[in-house]
Amino acid sequence: MNNFSYTKACDIGQAVDLINGNAGHKIVAGGTNILDLLKYFVTEAETIVDINTIEELSSLTEHAEGGIRLGALMTNADTAYHPVIEQQYPLLSKAILAGASAQIRNMATNGGNLLQKTRCYYFYDPAVPCNKRLPGSGCPAKEGHNRIHAILGHSENCIAVFPSDMCVALAALDAVVQISGPDGNREIQFADFHRLPGDTPEIDNNLKQGEVIIGIDLPAETFSDHYSYLKLRDRSSYSFALVSVATAFTLENELIKEVRIALGGVSHKPWRIKEAEQFLAGKTPSEENFAQAADIILQGASAFKHNEFKIGLAKKAIIRNAAMALHPESQRPGAKPSL
Ligand code: SF4
Repeated sequence: MNNFSYTKACDIGQAVDLINGNAGHKIVAGGTNILDLLKYFVTEAETIVDINTIEELSSLTEHAEGGIRLGALMTNADTAYHPVIEQQYPLLSKAILAGASAQIRNMATNGGNLLQKTRCYYFYDPAVPCNKRLPGSGCPAKEGHNRIHAILGHSENCIAVFPSDMCVALAALDAVVQISGPDGNREIQFADFHRLPGDTPEIDNNLKQGEVIIGIDLPAETFSDHYSYLKLRDRSSYSFALVSVATAFTLENELIKEVRIALGGVSHKPWRIKEAEQFLAGKTPSEENFAQAADIILQGASAFKHNEFKIGLAKKAIIRNAAMALHPESQRPGAKPSL
């Protein structure tokens, strides 16, 4: 780890001032990812700006017109177990609790969850090339160990996946990211926040230098009747998704009125294809219809030597998770979901 200085920001304006115009000034909140990056020499900091004492970012606010705002500094644990989230946005609670470990969720913040880095092995090893860490140096994952890598939206330059569970649910729920920066406040629709790697894999999201995430808004539609988050991974806890699916829908006269399907573990950002959701609208929530929707979602999927299995796994996960969302009670241990 390189030597760095440490300072505290007492309010949002001060945090923006401290990082604006200096890429070497980095914000720390929960520190569950940035400290690893510093320790492994993946990144360097001149100054660490601690924002943990900005109290206004640490709570959940209910909007008078419906919907809520999650403070950027709320921990993942406080968010998942908040009564409003448990009762009104259970999809989000379930996705958060599928991620990391209890200890990490107690420290990790909502803003940090959006900004975490890929867990590509090569990215964390400064002894090898990596276009995301050192643009232009190459991508050893393409010909190397790529079992955990992308099947959708990858580029010649990077095939990494975004590791968050929480963000898959936020994508499905149409969240909006609230940002403060040198030019004032602005918001970004969740679908536009994270980026595909393209020619600039070193840029993970559309947050500009000098900007700070202050909150995440969720709309009034909660999808609390029909929802499910399914995470498929190598072990049952403290493991990143090989494939995950957030599914939520509303029914009218036993037909799908509105549906959301977002995938994790398959791309550089949560993967959501609106054409598939439009295809399902007005149809019966049957296995056949969800299988066709899965084909639309996975159109263009292409695998590498070790992750071909993800394409079939993703299709099965979409179909299975739809059954679980139709009968959320089927998510109890031992229960068998069926469409
Ligand atoms: Fe680096 Fe991306 Fe290639 Fe991994 S997949 S080695 S992060 S460029």
